Amino acid sequence: MLKVENLSSGYGNLEIIWNASFHVDDGEVVAILGSNGAGKTTLVRTITGMVRPKSGSVIFNGEDLAGKSSRTILDHGIVQVPEGRQLFTEMSVYENLEMGAYNKETKARLGESLEFVYRWFPKLKERKNQAAGTLSGGEQQMVAVGRALIGLPKLLILDEPSLGLAPNIVDDILSVAHSMAKEQGISVLLVEQDITKALRMADRGYVVENGKITLSGTSRELEENEHVKKAYLGI
Ligand code: ATP
Repeated sequence: MLKVENLSSGYGNLEIIWNASFHVDDGEVVAILGSNGAGKTTLVRTITGMVRPKSGSVIFNGEDLAGKSSRTILDHGIVQVPEGRQLFTEMSVYENLEMGAYNKETKARLGESLEFVYRWFPKLKERKNQAAGTLSGGEQQMVAVGRALIGLPKLLILDEPSLGLAPNIVDDILSVAHSMAKEQGISVLLVEQDITKALRMADRGYVVENGKITLSGTSRELEENEHVKKAYLGI
């Protein structure tokens, strides 16, 4: 479904991502792992059109989307849940969710999409009239994921969903993401610093170090890799 080939990007003259190649298949959960500042966010922002690629391709269902606008990429079904959630804190949960319907199709299907989101996150239905800024961190992350689901993703990108959340809430969010992939066929690209949790829920993963993909494998292979153990798992 997604095939990224030799992708390079950065900011101005500053090159951050160097020749990244990876893929995500239908219904797969793939983790992009790495420490602070490794370039994970820049990599996914290049895929979603927020950072311009310098070279390389982003093939999505057979079409090269590299360098296309964010809007075009959204229309193709690549929807990102941004790092830090980026909700409209003064607006209600419902209004934030509604923002996920940005084009004709997603607007037409808003009613059924809302029911879908409320089924996965019943708390959001209870809180639908509450200002998003007054929710707990975990609930806010649910709104951010819910808003992305309203955009009818074929590929859902989660950027650091665990940031600032209690471990049990992280498990809840990741388990919904896992079910999205396995039950709904929505592929998931998960960017995480919490490597233990990410590998527990992903099928495969890639390690990013200094803007380069240095390792790849199934979650099991990465968990057992000596470099991953030493550098990231502290064992
Ligand atoms: P984190 O987990 O902390 O978000 P990350 O792996 O996602 O880290 P990036 O946010 O992609 O890393 O940052 C990679 C590098 O790019 C860092 O050195 C950062 O300072 C730089 N960078 C990020 N955004 C910009 C920007 N808008 N302009 C210039 N440099 C940037």
